[in-house]
Amino acid sequence: MAGGFPIRALLVEDNPGDVRLMREMLADADGGGCELRVAERLAPALQALAAGSIDIVLLDLNLPDSGGLETFAAVHDGAPRTPVVVLTALADDALALETVRLGAQDYLVKGSIDGQVLIRAMRYAIERQRAEEALQRLNAELEERVRRRTAELEAANRDLEAFSFSVSHDLRAPLRAISNFAQIIAEDYAASLDERGRHYVDNIVLAGNRMDQLIRDLLAYSRLGRSAIKLAPVPLREVVESAARSLEPRIRELAASLEIHPDLPLVEGDPTLLSQVFTNLLDNALTYRQADKPPAVAVGWRRESDHCIATVADKGIGIAAEHHERIFEVFQRLHSQDRYPGTGIGLAIVKRSVELMGGRLWVESEPGRGSTFFLSLKCAPGRLTGNSGGEP
Ligand code: ADP
Repeated sequence: MAGGFPIRALLVEDNPGDVRLMREMLADADGGGCELRVAERLAPALQALAAGSIDIVLLDLNLPDSGGLETFAAVHDGAPRTPVVVLTALADDALALETVRLGAQDYLVKGSIDGQVLIRAMRYAIERQRAEEALQRLNAELEERVRRRTAELEAANRDLEAFSFSVSHDLRAPLRAISNFAQIIAEDYAASLDERGRHYVDNIVLAGNRMDQLIRDLLAYSRLGRSAIKLAPVPLREVVESAARSLEPRIRELAASLEIHPDLPLVEGDPTLLSQVFTNLLDNALTYRQADKPPAVAVGWRRESDHCIATVADKGIGIAAEHHERIFEVFQRLHSQDRYPGTGIGLAIVKRSVELMGGRLWVESEPGRGSTFFLSLKCAPGRLTGNSGGEP
């Protein structure tokens, strides 16, 4: 035997001369390990394959009852797991390559091989077929595992969302009672309290209001995953301009400058989510300003292959590198309530919204030098009407 495992080969060949040549080649190469069966036509070849116990097919494409690619397709369909090595009479590369593309393991040009080459080609084809099948099995298992894990995660997420929704909801009623009664004490019983008592009651009212805001934000966050999102082309310019209008009083009060790129693109998104995203980002850009100068905010964009990356840049206090990830988590704040009031949920909502729209959000920032938030979404096909221009 020429080494390795025994091979049961089916030679599909109608030319007796070629059959004899093959037998001689295998004998010369010590083909004792190769048991060669012969079929002269397609029909008996298919029968032999259906009966099983064939490791490999050596296939001449031109037979009395079939020709060319049809012969290969019939054999491959009849026994898809049996490797096929195509034998061609001429060096017809185009045809042979086509069979490889359709699933043949190899092709050999008849006159140009010897027994050793033939046996090696058969062993290689059998091994490769086995390796491919093992890989396919592994891939299928992996896909199944990913599918199961995803379903588990989705179920866990749904549970968590339902839980935080109902908890936040249920917390509001007793909280309202605490706040309302504290308010009544502050207003109607102020005279019977000394200054320290009034201070305590005021603190209860303030803490109650703050907790109410926290719960409302948490509800908004947990609602995000519960609503169905339909992506559609959204003109970013309209979204940003309307967010800016809603912040107009603050912009004026802070004497802030806000520059909006005139040719913001159309993106694949959800208008309600996008409007919330830009309102939050612009609001933060105004809030986290330097003490000694008015905020300067710019909204721009650039294109990267099929993605539109919008930017919201400020010249505010900036964020240290170690916090660039943390700020997107729920309740993560870098400042005290007195200096910069907030609940620490805004950016978590922004990030979640962007991800629900299939996009990405990140920040580049340095303390004292301002921050730029990047929001990458798929560009929507088409252009805005009246849009003069090119990209930045
Ligand atoms: P909030 O503003 O309610 O605290 P956010 O989730 O919007 O919550 O932001 C989280 C934290 O990220 C903020 O507390 C702030 O420390 C930081 N941050 C957000 N935006 C900016 C910005 N433009 N410049 C500097 N820091 C920012």
